[in-house]
Amino acid sequence: MNIDVQSVTKNFGSFKALNDVSLKIQSGELLALLGPSGSGKTTLLRIIAGLEWPDSGAVRFDGQDALSLSVKERDVGFVFQHYALFRHMNVFDNIAFGLRVRPRRERKPESFIKNKVEQLLELVQIGSLADRYPSQLSGGQRQRVALARALAIEPRVLLLDEPFGALDAKVRKDLRRWLRNLHNELHVTSILVTHDQEEALEVSDRVVVMGNGKIEQVGSPSEVYDNPASAFVHDFIGE
Ligand code: ADP
Repeated sequence: MNIDVQSVTKNFGSFKALNDVSLKIQSGELLALLGPSGSGKTTLLRIIAGLEWPDSGAVRFDGQDALSLSVKERDVGFVFQHYALFRHMNVFDNIAFGLRVRPRRERKPESFIKNKVEQLLELVQIGSLADRYPSQLSGGQRQRVALARALAIEPRVLLLDEPFGALDAKVRKDLRRWLRNLHNELHVTSILVTHDQEEALEVSDRVVVMGNGKIEQVGSPSEVYDNPASAFVHDFIGE
């Protein structure tokens, strides 16, 4: 799905978290939103998701006004830094959750759900963990479950907010390779918020660098890192 963000501004009191931000996201691409803490990345993601509304501007999904749609109607899947799995449910039920809470007329039979969850467990490579509870999983395994849960509803857009931020460096490295391979297979339009430059560089098709509520640069990872236009990327390369 194509996403078109047009001149979006968002104020919190007198503070401008987003200042006239425009951005087009192509169907099937994996876009990294990169920038220092406080630059407006999460706010932009939340506006696209329908968790926050802009003061002015528009967001279009395949040309349709998305701001008039609720979170559910937007058909987005989320993965957050802090797993947000249901602690009292095992892995299987966590992944099945989004399918089971649908309105009755849209709900699929339990046999369909079982099949779907089993496919997802294989896809995220945790086939043997279906009966475990979140407390029995490593951080990396939890994020695989979170991703499977987000994919279960077959979202039009996948929004990932620092999904690997709480994990140690080695696991993070493995997971970002894995995410890239998974995206090559699925081609779900995805936005990854990160302040980890290596992650943005390795994983994404395009990088958007944000600073002070504005977009400072947009390009392929090599364009952004060969000719950095922001202090954030410049400082990183200079290190
Ligand atoms: P990033 O994701 O790049 O770290 P955010 O989008 O989370 O940045 O935040 C941008 C700025 O907006 C920050 O300075 C933050 O404190 C502020 N902000 C975000 N959400 C709120 C809110 N609900 N109320 C007040 N200020 C907020």
